Amino acid sequence: MHSLLRFTLDLFSDLPAPQVAPKPTAPPAKRARKAPRAPLVPPASLLPGGFDANGPLAPMDKAQAAPNLVANLVGPQQPVQSLRQAIAPAPFSHPLANRELRLAHAIVGYRFERAKRRTIGFMVGPDGLVVRAPNWTPIYEVEAALQTKADWIMRKLAETRERQTRREDARIVWADGVRLPYLGQSIAVVLDPSHSFKGVGAVLDAADGDMSAADSAGTLRVALPKHATPEQIRDAVQAWLMRQARANFIQRLDHFAPLLGVKWQRMGLSNAGTRWGSAKSDGSIRLNWRLIHFRQPVIDYVVAHELSHLRVMDHSPRFWDTVSTVVPDYATLRGQLKDDSIPKW
Ligand SMILES: [Zn+2]
Repeated sequence: MHSLLRFTLDLFSDLPAPQVAPKPTAPPAKRARKAPRAPLVPPASLLPGGFDANGPLAPMDKAQAAPNLVANLVGPQQPVQSLRQAIAPAPFSHPLANRELRLAHAIVGYRFERAKRRTIGFMVGPDGLVVRAPNWTPIYEVEAALQTKADWIMRKLAETRERQTRREDARIVWADGVRLPYLGQSIAVVLDPSHSFKGVGAVLDAADGDMSAADSAGTLRVALPKHATPEQIRDAVQAWLMRQARANFIQRLDHFAPLLGVKWQRMGLSNAGTRWGSAKSDGSIRLNWRLIHFRQPVIDYVVAHELSHLRVMDHSPRFWDTVSTVVPDYATLRGQLKDDSIPKW
């Protein structure tokens, strides 16, 4: 059962996603902040065991995820506003920050948690810096350790912010003419109310040799009026992409399964944030439909990866040997499987 759990949590983007399990108990976050220099040990971990770089916290979208978590953690007696406002001036601040410290030339608001561990741990995730320390480590030691790691922390915080800016820039604006990647090529969405489409909603016209659009894979004609709302356009395009994804993935599963000597039973499309795929020992495979944005070799790597789990349930050298029998350049392709290289929906 344990190995099953492990390999179903599979194929995440390499962005560390600190999973914060919201607990109804209100943490004394504010109090901890008011006495930041106190060498006293704050209460034991407020969020026991809810932290895992591979945790299934789907949304990488801070704007969506943060308010709920803040609301859940802070509780009614501590208004969300006061905490957020108090930390707001810091240029780098975790939405659940309960301490802050000057590192290099910046004030960094970070999430501090006590944990059952032997060393002080730092993690820079999409929300910012999270620090976990053993129950017996005094705060001044934690802060000293942060200072020695200041360069690394500031670099990671800057990189994370840059990555989020790129993702925001990549957000699709749903309108007539919008372009989006499909199988690694750019397609244009065109609203075409005159088309009948035989009830399928959208049709892809292959590229017609237009030299001005070298990477264009054509035009997706969507059966919607010109005054369609962004939501209607998004839904129609997503429905089309999901149909393509399903057909594509099934075809590739059928291609790779016999090569690997395995049988898959079911394929479900998922939409789980940065989890690209998962496999269960009963032969069911789940694949993120957004993979359809990537080039076919990248999709093939994910398909082969999940099918290989039907032979090897972990990520041991034997597992990667299995993957490499059908996708020899898996390491390169794996590196191209970046969440921030595809548009944000
Ligand atoms: Zn895996």
